[in-house]
Amino acid sequence: MVKAVSARAPLPHLDDAVSKLRALLGERISTAQAVREQHSTGVFYSSNDPPDVVAFARSTGEVVEIVKICAGHGIPIIPFGTGTSVEGHIAAPLGGVSLDVSQMDRILAVHTEDLDVVVQPGVTRKALNTHIRDTGLFFPIDPGADASLGGMAATRASGTNAVRYGTMRENTLALEVVTADGRVIRTGGRARKSSAGYDLTHMLVGSEGTLGVITEVTLRLYGIPEKIAAAVCGFATLEGAVDTVISTIQSGIPIARIELLDDVQIDILNRIAKFDFPVRNTLFMEFHGTDASVREQAEMVQAIASDNGGGNFSWTTQAEERTKLWQARHDATWVDKQAYPGWDVWATDVCVPISRLAEVVLSSKKDAAEAGLVAPIVGHVGDGNFHMLVMVKPDDPAYLARIHALNDRLIARALAAGGTCTGEHGIGLGKVEHLYAEHGDSMHVMQAIKQALDPQNIMNPGKIFRPAT
Ligand SMILES: Cc1cc2nc3c(=O)[nH]c(=O)nc-3n(C[C@H](O)[C@H](O)[C@H](O)COP(=O)(O)OP(=O)(O)OC[C@H]3O[C@@H](n4cnc5c(N)ncnc54)[C@H](O)[C@@H]3O)c2cc1C
Repeated sequence: MVKAVSARAPLPHLDDAVSKLRALLGERISTAQAVREQHSTGVFYSSNDPPDVVAFARSTGEVVEIVKICAGHGIPIIPFGTGTSVEGHIAAPLGGVSLDVSQMDRILAVHTEDLDVVVQPGVTRKALNTHIRDTGLFFPIDPGADASLGGMAATRASGTNAVRYGTMRENTLALEVVTADGRVIRTGGRARKSSAGYDLTHMLVGSEGTLGVITEVTLRLYGIPEKIAAAVCGFATLEGAVDTVISTIQSGIPIARIELLDDVQIDILNRIAKFDFPVRNTLFMEFHGTDASVREQAEMVQAIASDNGGGNFSWTTQAEERTKLWQARHDATWVDKQAYPGWDVWATDVCVPISRLAEVVLSSKKDAAEAGLVAPIVGHVGDGNFHMLVMVKPDDPAYLARIHALNDRLIARALAAGGTCTGEHGIGLGKVEHLYAEHGDSMHVMQAIKQALDPQNIMNPGKIFRPAT
């Protein structure tokens, strides 16, 4: 949707590098156009920057060899998990090798007594949960897509459960990483806490493939709660819904999920996915705990909701109904696309301190209306994180310019409120300038780290940092 046009010169030494990669991987490299395009497009971001080659690795040893070949010839490497990132993260503006680790998909160790798991980077979040279901444990981080755990670590992903269980930052204990010079490093361990030196794990979580290739991830697991209840409540006003979220969090209720879908989004869900929610600003919620604690939490939130104009608060412990509800939430983007055939979706992503959530959501909704844009709002509002899913009219540059301007104003508003330009989607190509606006002088520190670990700038170049001038 956001077109990144490039007319770059061919990389010198590419043919040499491809011959060596072919010798190493045989049929597991591809220069087919369709494969290259599939490895650069991502979601919501249409790129004209395919890599020159896609290489499929099956082991850390192969990743080391691929990195050494690329480093020896100055060829860029773009790590690739499942390609669901949304800010042009996997585009190859300088060409190079897309290093696809999706075939590194083994679960290496499940330590049920310690509640942790060691996985290869290509394991997806759903595959992990399927594998460990019988242990009574689960991994809670759930970006809407079935992303790879390496990609999720690389983007510091989160999702609907983050309000209770945290993000990839809180849930990644350790990493194995191949750095730009082909060395294998291990960061962290399985201990729940450590004061041992610089925290390299959490420097690499969120580094978007710009510092190295993650080849192993150690993650925290949680016991599947004894009881899970889901609830829905519609509100007369958006303020009422957001104020309910703020009071719930400020009261310390340990809610597991609290998601906002505004009236525009609910209307689309009803029309396209055949739900029959009242067309109101609505909260989808989930409570985890014992029978008694789930009931207590639900009743407390119901009382808060009712003080804020919430009606028809309904809740259920039926697994089937819960699944249907969360599927509806996760499908919002695809349903929006169906409602506007031929149009695209631009998912914005800001996060603000919870006390500023109401003003930022309300002024952003007003802004979209004044700009004449269709922009349903969904959000992990318990964290102060929300998305406007702005519908993009095809082939209309003026319309697209209005969306860019809306996104810029949204981010400026979030930053002014003490928030961030991205709560979970990351920077990629799309938010480089916003990152500089957010971090100012700290960008020099990030640049120094990048320079120290990747002096040739071969690891996912063009992302996070402005191009060198
Ligand atoms: C419908 C939809 C809903 C979404 N909802 C959410 C959400 O709720 N929360 C959220 O956080 N995100 C969400 N996302 C975005 C996306 O799913 C996440 O960014 C996800 O973490 C990307 O994982 P991936 O495996 O697809 O990574 P990719 O897209 O393959 O890669 C993403 C970035 O990580 C790097 N990378 C990938 N693997 C590695 C590796 N092994 N080592 C080093 N770097 C690597 C890549 O180079 C790239 O920079 C959503 C996306 C869609 C399409």
